[in-house]
Amino acid sequence: MKTLRLILGDQLNHHHSWYRNDSAETLYFIAEMRQETDYVCHHIQKVAAFFEAMEAFAGWLQSRGKQVIHYRLDHPDNTQKLGTNIANLIQTHGIEKFEYQLPDEYRLDQQLQQLADDLSIETQAFDSEHFLTQRDELAQFFNSKKSLLMESFYRHMRRKHNVLMENEEPVGGEWNYDKSNRKKWKGKPAIPHERGFRKDVRTTLARIESAEVKTFGHIDPQHFSWPTTRKDGLKVLRHFCTHLLVHFGDFQDAMDPDEAYLFHSRLSFAMNCKLLHPREVIDAVINHWQQNKNTISLNEVEGFVRQILGWREYMRGVYWCEMPGYAKLNHLQNHRDLPAFYWTAETRMNCLHHAIKNSLEHAYAHHIQRLMITGNFALLTQVHPDQVDDWYLGIYIDAIEWVEITNTRGMSQFADGGQVATKPYISSGSYINKMSNYCQGCCYDVKEKTGEHACPFNSLYWNFLAEKHKYFAENPRMAMMLSLLKKMDPEELKALQKRAHQIIRNPDSF
Ligand SMILES: Cc1cc2nc3c(=O)[nH]c(=O)nc-3n(C[C@H](O)[C@H](O)[C@H](O)COP(=O)(O)OP(=O)(O)OC[C@H]3O[C@@H](n4cnc5c(N)ncnc54)[C@H](O)[C@@H]3O)c2cc1C
Repeated sequence: MKTLRLILGDQLNHHHSWYRNDSAETLYFIAEMRQETDYVCHHIQKVAAFFEAMEAFAGWLQSRGKQVIHYRLDHPDNTQKLGTNIANLIQTHGIEKFEYQLPDEYRLDQQLQQLADDLSIETQAFDSEHFLTQRDELAQFFNSKKSLLMESFYRHMRRKHNVLMENEEPVGGEWNYDKSNRKKWKGKPAIPHERGFRKDVRTTLARIESAEVKTFGHIDPQHFSWPTTRKDGLKVLRHFCTHLLVHFGDFQDAMDPDEAYLFHSRLSFAMNCKLLHPREVIDAVINHWQQNKNTISLNEVEGFVRQILGWREYMRGVYWCEMPGYAKLNHLQNHRDLPAFYWTAETRMNCLHHAIKNSLEHAYAHHIQRLMITGNFALLTQVHPDQVDDWYLGIYIDAIEWVEITNTRGMSQFADGGQVATKPYISSGSYINKMSNYCQGCCYDVKEKTGEHACPFNSLYWNFLAEKHKYFAENPRMAMMLSLLKKMDPEELKALQKRAHQIIRNPDSF
């Protein structure tokens, strides 16, 4: 039967069973589509990385003798309407069956379901064979429970997949070593910098430019450094195991103005477009640790495994449990605009300047920069979650809605009222100073609370508690902070709130 198989840009799974079960009658279709470049304004590195990865994947399929139709943006038959492209191919090639892999985004899921319904030929949807859970597995696990605690899901995943387990108990006796993972990085240990590639992406960039796709951020056209093939992804994974894992856990939350990646893996893009399978990443890391137990401690490994086996699968589960309503949640009723400096990094607040500058330069920031610098400031200044979402969805190389929105709207902005995070991730300047090297180079004083030189995070923090306390009255994890707020001298609070309102009204002048 003549079959057309659609491959989306984030479905570059070399090990999918499709490629073992096809025939000379199977036609694979992959396309650069404006609907994907334009649904939000993306960082140029993100668009380039997807197009490069798709191109390489199409080449890999062809090298294995598969029939592939690859529409670049400027292909004459690319109508830029997915349904029309598919209908045309069905007609031209006498296709009798249309097949696709289940998309990870709600938007595309709806679109493909509709598209399949509208076709007069047989259609079939397949699992993408990437995740360690089914779409509805988290919902089933939590069933009717009110809170979706990640920790209990994570333990379930450890047991179910027999990861870091020994005789049904967690290896080392503890499930979670997060408490050991909070060191500040003070220039040591040295960070091995031998990563990145030197790819020439000028052809792809010229195509993006001539199609007038609107993008932002920087790119070095001859030194593009993200993994866009499976081989690249494996290289980044090897580099992580050999050089970075040893300190990953310890410095997981650390931040530094000059070190964009510290000991983080940079594997999210390769995993999110499915070049690497989460299980192979977890296995590689655990194998490496098992062979190097004398130098690598368990907390480094557990901290990493938790991110992938726990958080990544958990976020996907929450997404499918809660969409489409999740995309509209605004529990804290925040309505301010995102400051303009999120697009330029032009602010005197050193932490925000560096976290945003890194993001514009590399399409990357690590978790704590996303959560406790940019996310924290947006939440404290009460920015509308729609605007926060759009920014995160556009700027990061790994941003695909299922994992972006749950992290941003849920974990970072508390817009879901605490389904993902058990408390809002907010802090004053002291947390930032404890975990980073930002404050010493800042024109604001992290110890000052009011006055023109005071760190803006300090007054914003107390103002947020004062203005939003009603949302947290029943939250035991907020009890201590709310009781401190209650005991605060009213005059002191008044001064803090006055400064906070100056910042909230005009964040771009700080
Ligand atoms: C506001 C906000 C927005 C985020 N948006 C995204 C996003 O769009 N796409 C994305 O992949 N991650 C997102 N994250 C999670 C996390 O920041 C990134 O996965 C991580 O920074 C990617 O860099 P890395 O590969 O070096 O990760 P490492 O720190 O080396 O971690 C290893 C892997 O664990 C996984 N991981 C870690 N934390 C999370 C998490 N919270 N949720 C899901 N997976 C996780 C990722 O696959 C990552 O590659 C976001 C976090 C926050 C706070």
